[in-house]
Amino acid sequence: MKRFETERAEMIEVLKQKGIWDERVLAAMSSVERHFFVDAPFVNRAYEDSALPIGHEQTISQPYTVAFMTQALELKGNEKVLEVGTGSGYQAVVLATMGCRVFTIERRLPLVARARKMFDHFNLHIASKGGDGSVGWSEFAPFDAIIVTAGAPNIPQPLKEQLADGGKLVIPVGDRDIQKLSVVRRLGSQFTQQEISGFKFVPLVGKNAWANEGK
Ligand code: SAH
Repeated sequence: MKRFETERAEMIEVLKQKGIWDERVLAAMSSVERHFFVDAPFVNRAYEDSALPIGHEQTISQPYTVAFMTQALELKGNEKVLEVGTGSGYQAVVLATMGCRVFTIERRLPLVARARKMFDHFNLHIASKGGDGSVGWSEFAPFDAIIVTAGAPNIPQPLKEQLADGGKLVIPVGDRDIQKLSVVRRLGSQFTQQEISGFKFVPLVGKNAWANEGK
């Protein structure tokens, strides 16, 4: 039996109670070992439904947030997905475990290095790079889905442009303290947008996002 099997199953129950219904998302999250992605002092809290510190003032997103955003993308498991904000690598591993081809960008280089070790550990082929994801990753565009895991002041135009026809983008948009989750769908040259409130993320810092806070 894998470590924390019971705790992981309990986390899945909590996600279901909170309204997560997508079986593909639930299956991936019940198999990915979140305790590998958190810092040592927090290992015993890895399956609580809360965000936890991963160093560099960043956090691994709350399981409910990961589940909600992933579910919003309506993935079948064969899509090409761009993630902006690799952080611990947990969200990228969840997407790859669902079968997606994942491309992920992180501006904090030590986090990129750590996430890559996790990708190797799980034997997953995930393309990753250090840099500003607010400009997207044009070499590999278009993407069937784009997920931004840090809060932006508005939707970066390049991310909309790098969305495939029929593709979906999920991104927190708001001020630095509180954001709404925007779900954007592209149909040809048209974009439709839906907003869901009540989420909180660390800031997206970059060319098409918040200015660098000097760190
Ligand atoms: N998806 C992550 C959550 C990380 S928190 C996980 O599963 O653990 C959001 C991350 O976005 C932080 O690590 C932060 O450094 C990063 N970030 C902020 N602005 C960015 C930008 N412009 N480009 C790429 N990454 C960015």
